[in-house]
Amino acid sequence: MRVDKRKVALVGCGMVGMSYAYCLLNQTVCDELVLIDANEKKAMGEAMDLNHGLAFAASNMEIYAGTYGDCRDADLVVICAGVAQKPGESRLDLLKRNAAVFRSIIEPVTRSGFSGIFLVATNPVDVMTRITCVLSGFNSGRVLGTGTALDTARLRYLLGGYLHVDPRNVHAYVIGEHGDSEFVPWSQAMVATRPILELCREEAGASGNVEEEKISLDKLGEIEEQVRMAAYQIIDAKQATYYGIGMAMTRITKAVLGDENSVLTVSAMLKGGYGQRDVFAGVPCVINGSGVRRILELPLTEEERDRFAASCRTLQESFEGVL
Ligand code: NAD
Repeated sequence: MRVDKRKVALVGCGMVGMSYAYCLLNQTVCDELVLIDANEKKAMGEAMDLNHGLAFAASNMEIYAGTYGDCRDADLVVICAGVAQKPGESRLDLLKRNAAVFRSIIEPVTRSGFSGIFLVATNPVDVMTRITCVLSGFNSGRVLGTGTALDTARLRYLLGGYLHVDPRNVHAYVIGEHGDSEFVPWSQAMVATRPILELCREEAGASGNVEEEKISLDKLGEIEEQVRMAAYQIIDAKQATYYGIGMAMTRITKAVLGDENSVLTVSAMLKGGYGQRDVFAGVPCVINGSGVRRILELPLTEEERDRFAASCRTLQESFEGVL
């Protein structure tokens, strides 16, 4: 009989946190889920609400509102706590306030004796993940952020539609900052094992229309821009984004708890890979029970390496701004 329980402690029971929790319950990802929030009453209400769905769930799960002491034996501490941007507030000021929020979280989590893996979703996620690593003193492999996991899912969905291919057979990544400087290294975008750039060229050749290839390349550029603007568009329409990120976090959680060795574009600390050091950025990584087992270095073109370096510079500047 199994005695070890897969335990997740969730800090931040807002829209993102609860979309994730709801997804964990529906996909039966863990056995125990602790909800922690500065607003204790909210955490309690959310636990009650989820528990009332248990009779309809595929398997049992222990769900309760708890305290940081409950992180002690958790496999994963997932952080989606944060404060919202005030009108007229700069991104840097928001970052400073979220850094203060993280100081009030990471210290009691580590004091509890927690020895698992941190997963961070709070924005700006790459910088908040780095702050988590610094404050916790954990080995960087055990601290990961959602990075460009969601952006990559958006890209594969859009490319699948354009190329009429199941998105699961589209292997393309958004890398760098989860934000304005993120980009798609098109030299590494594939359908099965065929480069997408090559497919565009081939189709243009077949039609005999020289303009065709340019149209295809322009379309790829449009898709990249759509991915970059997706969050702005959703926020404009419904004030916040939460279902997609909740599912991305669930996918990462499964990779960790299931010791899957799955490749996902999380925010991980670069240690020389891609010519970068110490900065956290979204890159394809092999994820398993120990966190980031390995960063996969894609053979980027020189131009793509420059874009990646520029994205990392932005992240470094933001991090230095909160010191
Ligand atoms: P929200 O305002 O609905 O929830 C935030 C929660 O954090 C609230 O319940 C609040 O009480 C709690 N909180 C605030 N300070 C706290 C503290 N010191 N300790 C414990 N809890 C505290 O916000 P949301 O929509 O759930 O978004 C949460 C974060 O996720 C934001 O930073 C948002 O930008 C980010 N986000 C990230 C992605 C991504 O791709 N990484 C996508 C969407 C949103």
